[in-house]
Amino acid sequence: MNIAKTIDNARKEIGRLRSAGKTVALVPTMGALHEGHISLIRQARDYADYVVVSIFVNPEQFGPNEDFDTYPREPEDDLKKCRDEGVALVFAPSGNEMYNEQKFLSINISSLNSQMCGASRPGFFEGVLLIVNKLFNIIRPDFALFGQKDIQQFQIISTMVREFNHNINLVMAPIERANDGLALSSRNTYLTDEERLTAPGLYRALQYIEKQVIDGVHTPKLLIEHQKSELEAKGFRIDYLGMFSFKTLQQINTLQKGNIYILAGAVWLGKTRLIDNILIEF
Ligand code: AMP
Repeated sequence: MNIAKTIDNARKEIGRLRSAGKTVALVPTMGALHEGHISLIRQARDYADYVVVSIFVNPEQFGPNEDFDTYPREPEDDLKKCRDEGVALVFAPSGNEMYNEQKFLSINISSLNSQMCGASRPGFFEGVLLIVNKLFNIIRPDFALFGQKDIQQFQIISTMVREFNHNINLVMAPIERANDGLALSSRNTYLTDEERLTAPGLYRALQYIEKQVIDGVHTPKLLIEHQKSELEAKGFRIDYLGMFSFKTLQQINTLQKGNIYILAGAVWLGKTRLIDNILIEF
């Protein structure tokens, strides 16, 4: 496995990997790799000859009061996991390598970030698009894999790929969960033992709403409000919980046949923000 810390070296390595007409799949991450990331790496192997993993805690996607400084960083452990999974190249640049010049340009997002995580994390998706755009230009992968866990991110990146004509096939991978249903996340390490026991409540609330919807509740507003209260009673602080259109990422009140919906929530448990979602093909 090769490790590139500079853009130049990454390009050289990619050139070498591609020399015999081989294909490359990219798995972008912020490190502190867990089984969710590993599942993306394993799926990436099915799509391309070589898997490239990028590890970069992207300062541009953290707000001033967010957890950039405390975000878990486990570089040695991450490299070992990548090696064990047969990754061909890890691109792990420094902050200066990625952002060494004054920036004159930014990517503007209209409406796709006005709700869900975009509403509570201003500038977050602009920061995500900035880094993903740079990674796509540096690695120029044939495939890039992202998790359904960050479903709004996936939809916004898909839109960028389409509108900016990146020649890359995107794959959305299912959410890896702990045995009790909690979606795996690097941030789960922030949870206290007690919070960790409470945390699967978010997924249970989503599953409960999903079941009611499948059983015929097609205007789920009251049902969702009730689940919000239940979660609050368990100690969660609600950021959002709702039903959104998969296409427009806008909240919907009444489900209509033939559409795909995202039943999604973001909640705080102490200082940890948890997100989760279920896709509903109606
Ligand atoms: P992150 O390191 O949190 O930026 O995540 C890197 C990639 O892994 C993103 O595409 C995430 O959506 C994906 N990911 C994170 N958690 C999970 C999970 N539990 N299951 C599947 N993919 C995940």
